[in-house]
Amino acid sequence: EEELYSIKDTNISLDMDIYQRAELFNQLWINQCKENKHLIYWVESNSRISSRMNIFDINEGLFKDVVSFVANDYLGMSGRDETIAAGIEAMRKYGTGACAAPVIGGYLDIHKKLELKIANFVGQEDSLIFSSGFGANTGVLNCLLGKNDIALIDSFVHTSVLDGLKGTNIKNIGHNDMEYLEMTLKNVQNLYTTKLVVVDGVYSQDGDLGLLPEISTLCKRYSAFLMVDDAHGIGVMGENGRGTLEYYNMLGEVDIVTGTFSKSFGCVGGFAATSKELVQYLRYYANTTMFSASVTPQVTASVIKAIELIEEDPSIRKRLWDNVEYLKSKLDEEGFDYKETKSPIFPIMIRHNFKAKEVAALLLKEGIYTNAICYPAVRNREARIRVGILATHKKSDINILLSALVKINKTIQFT
Ligand code: PMP
Repeated sequence: EEELYSIKDTNISLDMDIYQRAELFNQLWINQCKENKHLIYWVESNSRISSRMNIFDINEGLFKDVVSFVANDYLGMSGRDETIAAGIEAMRKYGTGACAAPVIGGYLDIHKKLELKIANFVGQEDSLIFSSGFGANTGVLNCLLGKNDIALIDSFVHTSVLDGLKGTNIKNIGHNDMEYLEMTLKNVQNLYTTKLVVVDGVYSQDGDLGLLPEISTLCKRYSAFLMVDDAHGIGVMGENGRGTLEYYNMLGEVDIVTGTFSKSFGCVGGFAATSKELVQYLRYYANTTMFSASVTPQVTASVIKAIELIEEDPSIRKRLWDNVEYLKSKLDEEGFDYKETKSPIFPIMIRHNFKAKEVAALLLKEGIYTNAICYPAVRNREARIRVGILATHKKSDINILLSALVKINKTIQFT
């Protein structure tokens, strides 16, 4: 049973040519869909609000209106009149694309404005923007670390970090394990030129936080640099939404902060914020920006507006955190097993791969869209339903989720 938990965990061999591999994959995929073992939905966009969706349910063969808990649009910025209007105005002024990489003519005044805004927001001297959060991590890491360097990475960092580290040495430091981090830092101290610790602000599957104060102290003690990927923290965490570093009252105290525009800023794109010198270096050495066309004017202007709204209207974030507290109290009331989270990400633990998929399928029948996260995305026996809370969810949406979970738990006991 456990053998089929991942569609990618098959006997597709690299000895086959690419068409044979693709054909085999397609057969497996179709079979798994038919057997309800692999759930993939087409999303039809009939709604600006990320907490509502109209999706195609492959198993039932029809479109459905659902309450969605899968989006990362934590503050509902993607559907707001203000962010949309700012984007449209920028398109009218600059056209639909800058159509060149930044250093060869694709750098607009609004790109500069956004870079300074981001830098100021996360407490760094300067920043540069990328067309994805993924590209920010790969671009930065790829050009900073080489054969004589080492990256010490938390076990739960994003794939983009691993992709960026292909040309260097890597040491996994476990998850928020301070003793192991210190031991590793001691061991590598004199062996490498640059030692860079890479961790997340908010971890995307468990919703817990990187222990940044302790990690930063150890980095300083052993002369290592610290990079924090705050993709899920920026806009959400801290008193003013300036991210996980603000939450810990340590803005400006780490070497590099990366993040994305595709979550609480409601668009797409990413950034790296650090010292002026390093930003200037990255502009020319980070290939994912140097050799890639600039972020579109619409995205740039909408992100600027999203940051302005976060700065000017704390009630948006308050709605999000009210919803987070409401879901917590409801889950406690019903006695569900969820991982202690400090963010809007709720892992509702099922602990069994197939059961998790079954629960997600049954939730969908009840009109609720969530993702079952199973091995290998998370450790075996850590399968869960991942619920992402947004400012745009209504209390009634959360009530519907809870009633459905209670009902499903009566049929297939999972808690
Ligand atoms: N870092 C983390 C922790 C993420 O969760 C993600 C997106 N899932 C990224 C980076 C990449 O960001 P993007 O999707 O905007 O490219």
